[in-house]
Amino acid sequence: MILPKSNRLTPAQLAEVTAIVEPFGCRLQPIVGAVRTIYAIVGDERDELMINRLEGLAYIDRVDRIQSPHKLMDRRSDLASHRIALGKVTLGEELLVIAGQCTIDPKNPNFLYETAHAVKEAGANVLRGGVWKPRTNPYSFQGDTKSLDILMEAHRRTGLPVDAEVMDETQLRLALDAGVHMLQVGARNALNYSLLSAIGRAVAGRHTVVLLKRGLHMGPLSEFIAAAEYIVSFGNPNVLLCPRGTAPALDGYRNHPDESITPLLKEKTWAPVVVDPSHSVGKAAYVPACALAAVAYGADGLCIEAHVQPSQGIGDDPKQALTPDVLAETISQARQLWRLRRGSAPAQALFSP
Ligand code: PEP
Ligand code: MN
Repeated sequence: MILPKSNRLTPAQLAEVTAIVEPFGCRLQPIVGAVRTIYAIVGDERDELMINRLEGLAYIDRVDRIQSPHKLMDRRSDLASHRIALGKVTLGEELLVIAGQCTIDPKNPNFLYETAHAVKEAGANVLRGGVWKPRTNPYSFQGDTKSLDILMEAHRRTGLPVDAEVMDETQLRLALDAGVHMLQVGARNALNYSLLSAIGRAVAGRHTVVLLKRGLHMGPLSEFIAAAEYIVSFGNPNVLLCPRGTAPALDGYRNHPDESITPLLKEKTWAPVVVDPSHSVGKAAYVPACALAAVAYGADGLCIEAHVQPSQGIGDDPKQALTPDVLAETISQARQLWRLRRGSAPAQALFSP
């Protein structure tokens, strides 16, 4: 829909606009109002170049797209009926919980093995473990490829599918060759389009699931959905959208919690939303409430950092990892709330003493 700055286009302007849209297989349909005339673009109006050319005209106020530019991620796409399954869980049928360490300590693999058993016992469905870490400070521990073996050993010991972040194509290849079930795209790489495309290409034809974090800085939802479109456009629709808080932070929290975007995402796209409360708030004491808020907003899953001994962890674990008992209580409450939201649990079962 084209809205001119004036009440209507002059014949010369109309000719110029028509000459822009026709090569893209579109035509203009004027909609004449009492005061103002606007112009519908009839045809496939998603071409970015056509929109850019129209927006570049000095006499055009706005060009509103009716069709979504994210044709695969759009709620109305055929993919809306696609169900993503991971281990024993099908998204949408049960709350998915990913839990585990921020960072695997290659010198102390037993911590991950114990954490893996503990998160499984607490009710988690997927084990997370950072092998390679995106660290703000170049002198901080950057992760270690040896940790990949530790993660896969934890999978063998517990049967839990595993999730690890990859930041480049070498890590991507190593993770896929090792059999990692879920690839995480971190907040710092959420808009790295060549990495998103490489992941999309690499997971096409596989069952691998991609957990796409929201970009670190508060960007429009369409930017987040477009990043997912990059991956899905290569043929694997197993993508989960993960709000994890944005910058600038809310004073006292690590980031600005953004679980409240869940219903907005679900209105625009069919993709399941898996909220990360750990990086949103950044302190273990605040994580359970943020996790429950996410479920109340309609999240399909949670990604929570947990460690058998948080104080002995590396990376974020000393600050924000939940202990197994707190994780178990949080998962139990979150699952009750999830069932309540779907009308299958009595309200009084919530928050049992
Ligand atoms: C993480 O999951 O440990 C992590 C680094 O997350 P994010 O990319 O959201 O900061
Ligand atoms: Mn972390």
